[in-house]
Amino acid sequence: MAILEILTYPDERLKNMSEEVAEFNDALRTFLADLEETMRAGPGGVGIAAPQVGNFQRIAIVDVSAKKKIKHHGRLVLINPEITQWDGFEVAREGCMSVPDYTGNVIRATQIHLIACDEWGEKHEYDMEGYEARAVQHELDHLDGMLFIDRLVSRRHDLFQRKVYKK
Ligand SMILES: [Zn+2]
Repeated sequence: MAILEILTYPDERLKNMSEEVAEFNDALRTFLADLEETMRAGPGGVGIAAPQVGNFQRIAIVDVSAKKKIKHHGRLVLINPEITQWDGFEVAREGCMSVPDYTGNVIRATQIHLIACDEWGEKHEYDMEGYEARAVQHELDHLDGMLFIDRLVSRRHDLFQRKVYKK
């Protein structure tokens, strides 16, 4: 396994549209292992999308199970994912490994219905809410070349410089 290099804003490649995965083979599963290791090595590490490491396929991994007191589905490999229903909305703070110096207030749906394939090509359906639904919406944006900073209502009011804590 390997930790992959993360593309960071303003790298133009983060704006690429990613393509559907057609073959669910060993090369895909090897890549997924590296992608997951890269996610877990990052600060926060609740989600990652393939284009963040320069692989422009419709692949994301989300795992919010480390957060306390929320509903979740554990570790999720999401391939060719599609949100088919959105409900409610809420503003909350987001960060991103590709935008390391900032966090921002982003509006997201509070409930979604999601269809996605796993690493074996099997289709699954999920009803999600709250933090997990937000993480999925964030990661799926990457597949369409969108970053959370593209969704801010106002950069002046909703974008925040991350504090660097020195020991
Ligand atoms: Zn991100």
